[in-house]
Formats: sequence, C-alpha cells, structure tokens
Amino acid sequence: MVAKSSHSLLSLERFTFEENWDKKKERAIKIVKKLMEMYPRRTRGEILQGEPYFTLIRCIISQRTKDETTDKASDALFRVYPDMKALASAKVEDIQKLLKENGVGLWQSKGRWIVEASKILLEKYEGRVPDSLEELVKLPGIGRKCANIVLAYGFGKQAIPVDTHVNRISKRLGLAPPRVSPEKVEEYLTELIPKDLWIYVNHAMVDHGKMICRPIGPKCKECPLSELCPYFRGLVSEDDIKKKGK
Ligand code: SF4
Repeated sequence: MVAKSSHSLLSLERFTFEENWDKKKERAIKIVKKLMEMYPRRTRGEILQGEPYFTLIRCIISQRTKDETTDKASDALFRVYPDMKALASAKVEDIQKLLKENGVGLWQSKGRWIVEASKILLEKYEGRVPDSLEELVKLPGIGRKCANIVLAYGFGKQAIPVDTHVNRISKRLGLAPPRVSPEKVEEYLTELIPKDLWIYVNHAMVDHGKMICRPIGPKCKECPLSELCPYFRGLVSEDDIKKKGK
C-alpha cells in the first residue's frame, strides 16, 4: 500500500529515497532548522526586501536575470518612476528601453507587464498589492514563484517561493521527488515543513545554493547537512534530477 500524505494528491511513490511521511517530516524539520542556524535571519526586518509593490516589480524584472542586473535595473527604474502611479502612466516603450539599457533579458514582455500590472493595481485594487496568492497570480508577469516572493518578502507572510536553488536542493535532499515541476516541489515542501518555518526556506536555500550546494560541484564534504542528505549517500543522482519534470 502506498502511504498518502494529508495532502490528497501527494504520494511517496516517485521518490528515489525511501522513507515514510513521518520520517520525511522529521528529517525536513531537522534540515530547515539546520539551514536556519547556518544562514540566520531571524527578524522580520532581515527577511523583508521592501514594501510589496517594490518586491513585485523587482520580481518581474528578476525572472531569468542575475541578481546584480536586477538590482541595477530596479534602482534605475524607481529613480525615474518612484511609485505605482508613475509606472501606471509611463509609456511601455520607455520602460522597455530602460530595462534593455540596464541589461535585462525579456525586456519587451517585462516592460509591458510592469505597466499593465501597475494599472490593474491602481484601478482594481485601489493602489494596494493584494496579499493572497490567488489574486497575485492574476497579475501579468506574476506566476506562483513571484506571488510567493511577494507574500514572503513583501508582506512577511508564510510562503515558500520555489526558485532554481530551492528546486534543486529540495530534490537533492529528498524533500521532493527528483523529476517533478517546481509547483509540485512547493506542494511537497508545504506538506513536509511546518507553516511557521516556511518563510525561512527560500532565503536559506538560496544562500546554501550559492555557497555550498552549488548547481555544479556541490561541496558535500563540507556541508553540515550531509548526514541528512540522500544525494550525499548516492541515493539521488544528478541524472535523476536533470530528467524532465512533470
Ligand atoms: S550534502 Fe551535498 S547535495 Fe546534500 S545538501 Fe549538502 S551540498 Fe547539497
């Protein structure tokens, strides 16, 4: 019989690392607590990136873009267009030009999304960014990852944005099956990790992914999580993870 989680659509079937839900939850909590010790940011102020609108626009710019480019372009954008009203009434071509000049990829779509999203927020939401995933994903350019980023880093709400680092590390650590989509990874993580810890997961895994659990050549020998990690024990491989997600 296949063990089911409390989440009706999740099962343990596609994991390469075998353990029951209770063991997996226990290990998930140990992993998150260890990550929190390794990369501490305990206060709300250390987690928030800025007010929700800034976080939302920054997230649109950041898609498939390096952090340094995102920072530079966001600063340049907000210097010229300091708030929602300014961006809602801006010409799309001017925003596109500014993004392009600052090295941002997908500048055509992003320029359009930024102006459209700002108009919608002003007209339909009275100038406020909604604080629910369901409403956020209705905005142009905002998928689940960005919506969760706005919730966690703009509002300080419990959410787990699954970016490339969270996706890879969760699979190496056997917290999600190796071939599932980022959306599915989010479901596994929110099932396995207690809600009061969700907000720490993204920032800690991003730091871990940049410093130790790098995409190529993870430094497993010096990783404090190695005893908890099926990848380190050869039970999940890079090939397992690279195959196409569903
Ligand atoms: S042991 Fe290796 S694969 Fe596992 S979390 Fe650490 S660096 Fe990543």
